[in-house]
Amino acid sequence: MGDACGDEPMRRIVLTGFRGTGKTRIGRILSARLNIPFIDTDELIENRTGRSVPDIFHEEGEERFRTIEREVITMLPAADAIISTGGGVVCDPKNMEYLHRDSTVVLLTADIDTIEQRLVQKPRPPLTTLPLHEEIATLMDRRRQNYYASADLCADTSDTSPVQAAEHILALLKSGVSTVSQRNTARAFFRTGRIPPVLLKNLEYILTAPDRDPLTRIMGVAGYPCAHSMSPKLFNALFAHYHLNYYYTWFEDPELDEIIDIARAIDAKGLSVTIPFKQDVIDLVDEVEEHAARSIGAVNTVVFACGTAVGYNTDWLGVRKPLISMKGAKAVLLGAGGVAAAAAYALKDLDMEVTILNRTPGNAQKLAERFGCAWGGLDEFDRIRPDLVVNATPLGMQPDTRSPLKEDQLQENMTVFDLVYTPPVTPLIEAAQAKGCRTILGTEMFIEQAREQFYLFFGIDVPPEKVREFVA
Ligand code: NAP
Repeated sequence: MGDACGDEPMRRIVLTGFRGTGKTRIGRILSARLNIPFIDTDELIENRTGRSVPDIFHEEGEERFRTIEREVITMLPAADAIISTGGGVVCDPKNMEYLHRDSTVVLLTADIDTIEQRLVQKPRPPLTTLPLHEEIATLMDRRRQNYYASADLCADTSDTSPVQAAEHILALLKSGVSTVSQRNTARAFFRTGRIPPVLLKNLEYILTAPDRDPLTRIMGVAGYPCAHSMSPKLFNALFAHYHLNYYYTWFEDPELDEIIDIARAIDAKGLSVTIPFKQDVIDLVDEVEEHAARSIGAVNTVVFACGTAVGYNTDWLGVRKPLISMKGAKAVLLGAGGVAAAAAYALKDLDMEVTILNRTPGNAQKLAERFGCAWGGLDEFDRIRPDLVVNATPLGMQPDTRSPLKEDQLQENMTVFDLVYTPPVTPLIEAAQAKGCRTILGTEMFIEQAREQFYLFFGIDVPPEKVREFVA
């Protein structure tokens, strides 16, 4: 990182946020204070096209504007600069890839009334047919997940002058968000987990070394136990690939509230949540995504931004994605636990006719009644003759070598998706392959749910083959 202004920090700093949050004015002040260029992407678009942004919207529509905007973003210099972006830039995953790379993205926020007052003074053509207040509320709500994904740092500009906001951002860039005592508490917390010594050393350096980069942020997997999780390997490889200043580790502790307190204290960007916390975490976050996570009753992803912790479920998307071509199929779901709930939600979302079979039929009944499925005991499999079998029991998970179904119970026209992924080729998958069935490995679920998590954390769309390469 260079240093053009005393001991002020310097790097490529990107400002995101809704119209009227102060990106241009604050950006110009930061640029002057840091003595680095100021770039406004809307201005670049106007210079490139010879037309005003409102004219492009009016004459060619939003889609064309977004295409030009994407071209401009890909050509931004990699050098130190303050870059002010358009309000909708965060919704495009390619933009987010370019804007996050070797940069610090500062999300500017303001309350709706403040934004409305500012926009009334400086009118721009509306983006919808709604009255201004409603338009702001609707668009902010629609884009909120993407704004949060863009944010390395947040600054609320509602009650501050542009100069005050710029001073606040400079202080954050210099020292980071968490205090020395919070970082020392976190250091003690991580020492109690089972993090390998060499990785613990890295983490302690990031947390407490005097010459550490205050902008390196920590994320991790919350579970007990979770030392076996593939997520640290995958996410750290993705951070290196996309040039993100983040470090992913294990938040392994029997007390979930302690994990959440530490994550908040050190301004963690997010957590992947695994057993046994997927249900309990719902009570500890500020908001839960209202559709999937609420219906499934489990959260496996928490995104922290602007002082808010939002819970999501991406497990169901990990089941849904590999089955997208099987809409309307007749499916049997084996198991009625936590992952089975996400799987049932995914299968019903694909309009499948679903029967849940479980060791304890009463548990199958409870789950089936929530999602409108048929149910029964495991011994009822043979009468159903499904197109698709999804295994959501732990049978076959190392060191268990049992299969929930024998080869002679399978038909060659069946698709068999085993959600167990340790080992990748389970006894059930072996039996299905021997029978000539189409098979889908549990690693596919892991890959797809992890891609969705990465999108929630950073707004970047990782190609599945990249994830496959990094988990291999
Ligand atoms: P869970 O909540 O403990 O539920 C386990 C389910 O399996 C219950 O319905 C249980 O039946 C049944 N079951 C347990 N032992 C059994 C046995 N010996 N024979 C027959 N049925 C048995 O577990 P979960 O969180 O849903 O996880 C299930 C599996 O999903 C895990 O073991 C893991 O391998 C896999 N998983 C995969 C991914 C991925 O990304 N691919 C992610 C998470 C989990 P009862 O109701 O009778 O107890």
